[in-house]
Amino acid sequence: MEQPYLCPVCRDNRQDFLQVYKLAREIRKDPETGAILYAADEWEALTRDGRLDIEIRCQLCDHSAPEIDFVRAARRDMERAVRPRGRRA
Ligand SMILES: [Zn+2]
Repeated sequence: MEQPYLCPVCRDNRQDFLQVYKLAREIRKDPETGAILYAADEWEALTRDGRLDIEIRCQLCDHSAPEIDFVRAARRDMERAVRPRGRRA
């Protein structure tokens, strides 16, 4: 969480994001009618490797994706800034 983000889609937002996490509950459906035969009472936060499975949403363009996509975009952008080749702007 302590790494800079850059939105990989609009490439304009480094500051304003939403952290989104997913809630899940178990259900069982009837394969023919589609009726829900069982639904767990509780929704549980999804975890991955023991950590909350968090997505990030850009507040500018509403793109949402796993956090790593935003971290990678920021990293790539930084590398580009360090290398003074192919100057743009
Ligand atoms: Zn964006």
